[in-house]
Order: sequence, then C-alpha cells, then structure tokens
Amino acid sequence: MIVVLKRIVTDEEKRDLIQMIENMGLQVKDAGSENHGVLGLVGDTTKVDITHIEAQHIVDKVMKVQEPYKLASRTFQPMDTVIDVDGHKIGGGNLTIIGGPCSVESEYQIMHIARLVKASGGHLLRGGAFKPRTSPYSFQGLGEDGLKFLKKAKAETGLPIITEAMSIEEFDLIEQYADIIQIGARNMQNFALLKHAGRSSKPICLKRGMSATIEEFLMSAEYIMASGNSNVILCERGIRTFESYTRNTLDLAVVSAIKELSHLPILIDPSHATGRWQLVEPVSKAAVAIGADGLMIEVHHDPEHALSDGQQSLKPERFTKLVEIVGKIHQIV
Ligand code: PEP
Ligand code: MN
Repeated sequence: MIVVLKRIVTDEEKRDLIQMIENMGLQVKDAGSENHGVLGLVGDTTKVDITHIEAQHIVDKVMKVQEPYKLASRTFQPMDTVIDVDGHKIGGGNLTIIGGPCSVESEYQIMHIARLVKASGGHLLRGGAFKPRTSPYSFQGLGEDGLKFLKKAKAETGLPIITEAMSIEEFDLIEQYADIIQIGARNMQNFALLKHAGRSSKPICLKRGMSATIEEFLMSAEYIMASGNSNVILCERGIRTFESYTRNTLDLAVVSAIKELSHLPILIDPSHATGRWQLVEPVSKAAVAIGADGLMIEVHHDPEHALSDGQQSLKPERFTKLVEIVGKIHQIV
C-alpha cells in the first residue's frame, strides 16, 4: 500500500502519521523525495482500514500496490535504485562490466586475470571461491583461500569483488571479503539465505533461478529487501527450456520487463546464459542495446585448462574488444 502525502507537510505531522501506521502493525518506508511525499506500507495490509488513513488531513491518497512485491516495485519507488560500490555506480543509466573467471583456481590465475580485466576497462572482478557444481566430483572451489586471493587481487587492481555465497554458514565469512555477494541461480528461492542476505550491509547480486518466473524473481528480491537490505542487483543468466544447443535460453525481454516493474538494476550474464564463448559477444551487444545495466562475463587467460566453464569463458583479448564495443552501444542507447 502506498500513501501519497499532500504537498505541504511538516516533519512533525509526517512523524505522527508514521507512528499511527506503525501502531497498526505495519512497517513504513519513506520513499518520497523533497517535493513528493510517499510512504510505502509493508506487511499484512489486508486488515488495515484504508479510510482511516485517508481521513488524515496530510494524506492526499492511498493506493493499493497490485503486485505481490512492494519494496521492489516501480510503483513504490519510481526512481531507479543506484548502488555505489567503491565509487562505481550500478544502475541509473550507468554501464557496469564485471569480468573474471568462473572459479578462483590459484593466486597466480586470479591475479593475472584481475590485471587483464582492469586493463580492459572492467569495473568489478568476479570469481567463485565456493562453487555450486552439478557434480560433487567437480572442482568445488578453493574456499577461504580463494577469498584471500580475491582480496589480494583487489588490493593490487582496485577492482571491487563479487563472489558467491551458497549457504548461511559461509555467508558471514564471504561478507568480510566481498564487495557484492552473489546468490546464485540454484539458491534464488533459498528463503533462509535470502533473509540472511537481507541483514547484510553489502549489496546482493541475485541471479534468476533457472525455472523462475519474473514474478518469482522479484519476490526473491523482495525477501532480501523486506529483511532490510535495499541494495539488490538482479542478474538474468538464462532459463531452462527444451533447447539444448545453448546451455540455457536467455530471456532478454526480462530487461525491459524488469525496468517497467521494478527500480532495481538488472545485469545480463551471457556466459551462463549461452554456455558458448562464441555467443557471448553478440548477446552482450544485444543486452546493452536493450538497456541492461551491465554484464557479468566469464574471462580466462587459458580457457582450455580452466577448472570450470572454460567453454563459455572469453580470452582476455576478446573481452577487451567486447568492453570497447558495448561501451559504444551504451553511449548510443
Ligand atoms: C556463477 O555465476 O558463478 C554461477 C554459478 O552462475 P549461476 O548461479 O547463474 O549458474
Ligand atoms: Mn561459471
């Protein structure tokens, strides 16, 4: 539910109204700007007497938010969310390029790739230290050692770090190292993990589950936001269809849909979406053209020997070219 306030309202009047609404058992989020007073009411609004709120003299109108997600909805917050990571802004018309290997494999590997990503003009470094692998026999990641190597790579290059947390147990450790914590596709509906991420002070990059609808995707973002963390970045990484030539099927229209429904930034991950390095550049161009806020690209200096996802990783020179081309497309858009 959204409460639109009249033009001229004193701070004290607003405070009293918020108090009154909180006494009804609801949370109040102040989503207004200087000359546009808006309060978002979160919680079970079914038992609330709207006429009672409407009757308050500082209230202009009360509107029901039709969507099941509230905090994530564009109705609740018309302005784009912009997330600041070490001075780099994600969302609000900026283009963010994240590059790096699927997994952190060694100190040499991540340092080497970090330097290349930096030199190519990438803004953030990715790399999994805790890896969600389909097979228990595949490389599972270096764990905390991987996090230490990422930290070292950041210290040298200045690139902020994004890395995945797969469970609550390791979340707090990862939080100490990461600038953005990723929640992967397989955990998009791990509600306990989402709530935990909601209590973090770090931005969360939430990847779309492989069979999740757009509404379910936004409801998962809502879980994080309802627990107190409004810095959520969405990431489309393809969904499961009958197609088997590509690893997943990229739902590019999701960018436009999300822009209409939500104020949260949305990135595209063309690496996991296609599973083929040859498709990464063309898909990236389309993603930026349609208005994505950024790209997350797997980059490896020796993809033939990568411990995970080599077939979808770009060699550094191709990544450099990609950054240059999508930068031009972004300017035009
Ligand atoms: C990843 O980005 O490292 C990853 C595992 O992606 P996803 O969760 O989209 O499969
Ligand atoms: Mn990968």
